[in-house]
Amino acid sequence: MKKHNFSAGPCILPKEVFLKASEAVMDLDNSGLSILEISHRSPAFVDIMNEARDLAIELLGLKGQGYQALFLQGGASLQFIMSAYNLLENKAAYLDTGSWSTKAIKEARKLAEVDVVASSSDKNFNYIPKDYNIPKDIDYFHCTSNNTIFGTQIKEFPDTDAPVVCDMSSDIFSRQIDFSYFDVIYAGAQKNMGPAGTTLVVVKEEVLGKVSRDIPSMLDYKIHIGKDSMFNTPPVFAVYTSLLNLRWLKEKGGIEAIQKENENKAKLIYSEIDINPLFKGFANKPDRSTMNATFYLVDDSLKERFDKMCKEAGINGVNGHRSVGGYRASMYNALPKESVGTLVEVMDELERKA
Ligand code: PMP
Repeated sequence: MKKHNFSAGPCILPKEVFLKASEAVMDLDNSGLSILEISHRSPAFVDIMNEARDLAIELLGLKGQGYQALFLQGGASLQFIMSAYNLLENKAAYLDTGSWSTKAIKEARKLAEVDVVASSSDKNFNYIPKDYNIPKDIDYFHCTSNNTIFGTQIKEFPDTDAPVVCDMSSDIFSRQIDFSYFDVIYAGAQKNMGPAGTTLVVVKEEVLGKVSRDIPSMLDYKIHIGKDSMFNTPPVFAVYTSLLNLRWLKEKGGIEAIQKENENKAKLIYSEIDINPLFKGFANKPDRSTMNATFYLVDDSLKERFDKMCKEAGINGVNGHRSVGGYRASMYNALPKESVGTLVEVMDELERKA
């Protein structure tokens, strides 16, 4: 029986995507060859890569605005240093909203000065700092749109004239924002886009070529753009499966359509967290993420019972990250509302029986 999969990533993808991807492992579009054995230079794969790159740009509403999409390897973690390699000459401003931003800051500091404009580390990152100043003399401003571990999400991005770099690993393609506000967007695929193994990087070309350092080829966005994201062998299966998922999203009506579903799912879980006296939310209410809901049991002695009930209901992946504890329900695009409904029923049942 298929589980209700609330895993934070790698995570649930649509059933149609799993099916088509598994068919392609045996035979890609009746070619007599597996997606895993064709050359990445074959016309079939070049078409896959081009369509995936175009579709990513189209879904983000960035067509014809000077952006390029790349499917790279090394995870979002490589982007912490790679984005800095390409854009950081003297100084950058970073917003510190959780472990992943902290790691991005640590990497960028290897290259130049980093001004941390605000941090929510004083409250174990349970909120998004507001009212901070971004200095003018910076190469770029970096932020993390959604904090996967802590369950917070930036709802309003700050005004700045500087280029903006954003780690969107855990909420890309989940909500409509003006993506043209950003100059570099990066996201590990394994949340809202596809399986682990590739990272989407969307770059506005005009921000490149401004640093004086000699960038190693594999870290150079320009080189990857010049080679149409095929500078070296790309992660073919991860790119293909991401393409299937992007096609699924387009067919559903794109980001606007999925945003409504995501908001409904989030409403369902957060109203239960707020109404059920046995549970308490972790994140500051206005900053609550629509992707990762973090909460805990007020009385920890109920944990064993609640965990058992979840298991019996086929609920998977709701344990909180070790740095927050409690529970985390990740509700990425492909998670059906029924799965959230099942979790809410179990929470409800615990209240009735406790
Ligand atoms: N940034 C965010 C917001 C994340 O959630 C994660 C990981 N899940 C990362 C960066 C690191 O990604 P990766 O494991 O792909 O390097």
